[in-house]
Amino acid sequence: MKKHNFSAGPCILPSSVFKEASQAVLDFNNSGLSILEISHRSKDFVSVIEEARTLVLDLLGLQNKGYQALFLHGGASTQFLSVAYNLLEKKAAYLNTGTWSSKAIKEAKLFGEIIEVASSKDKQFNCIPKNYSVDQSFDYFHCTSNNTIYGTQIKEFPSVEIPMVCDMSSDIFSRELNFENFDLIYAGAQKNMGPAGTTLVVVKESILGKVSREIPSLFDYQIQIEKESMFNTPAVYAVYVSLLNLRWLQSLGGIKAIEKANHKKAQLLYSAIDNNSLFTGYAAKEDRSIMNATFNLKSKKLEPLFNDMCQEANINGINGHRSIGGYRASMYNALPISSVEILIEVMNQLERKA
Ligand code: PMP
Repeated sequence: MKKHNFSAGPCILPSSVFKEASQAVLDFNNSGLSILEISHRSKDFVSVIEEARTLVLDLLGLQNKGYQALFLHGGASTQFLSVAYNLLEKKAAYLNTGTWSSKAIKEAKLFGEIIEVASSKDKQFNCIPKNYSVDQSFDYFHCTSNNTIYGTQIKEFPSVEIPMVCDMSSDIFSRELNFENFDLIYAGAQKNMGPAGTTLVVVKESILGKVSREIPSLFDYQIQIEKESMFNTPAVYAVYVSLLNLRWLQSLGGIKAIEKANHKKAQLLYSAIDNNSLFTGYAAKEDRSIMNATFNLKSKKLEPLFNDMCQEANINGINGHRSIGGYRASMYNALPISSVEILIEVMNQLERKA
């Protein structure tokens, strides 16, 4: 029986995507070959990666606006490094909203001066800093749109006069934003885009080519663009499954349609957390993520019972990140609202029992 999968990533994908993806392992496009055994230079795969790159820009509303979409290797963590390699000449401004921002800062420090323009570290990253400014002396500004571990999300991005770089690993394609305000967006695929194994980079070409250092080919966005995201063998299967998932999103009506559903799921769960006397939310209310809801049982003693009840109800993946504990329900695009309703029912049952 299919479980209610609240895993933070890799995570649930639509069942239609699982079906089509598994079929392609046996026979891709009625070719008599598996997708796992064809050349990445074959016509069939080149059309997959081309469609995926185009669809990304279409869904983000960035077609014909000077952007390129790339499917690269190494996860979002490699982008912590690549961003600085390609864009950092002297100093850059970073907003520190959690573990992933901190890791991005650590890598960027290898290339130049990094100024944390604001941080919520002293608040255990339970909120998004506001009222900070970023002047024009920086090469770029970097932020993390959604903090997967702490369950906070930037609702309003600062307006800056320098390139804005954003790690959107855990909320890409989940809500409408004016994506033109961003000059570089990156995201590991394994949340709303597809399976683990490929990383999306969407970059405005005009910000590239400005640093004086030599960049190794694999990390050089300009080379990756020139080679149409095929400098070396791409993660063929991960790109293909991402394409299926992007097609699914498009068929639903794109980001606008899914955002509505995501808000509904989040609103249901957060109101259950707030109205249940046994639970308390972790993140500051105004900064709550619509993707990852973090919460705690007020009494730790109830955890074993709640865990058992969740298991009984086929609920998977709601343990909080090992660094903060508690609970985290990730409600990515493919999670049906019925799964959220089951989780709420279990929380309410616990309240009645306790
Ligand atoms: N940034 C964010 C916001 C994340 O949630 C994650 C992973 N969960 C990462 C970066 C790191 O991604 P990867 O494992 O693909 O390197």
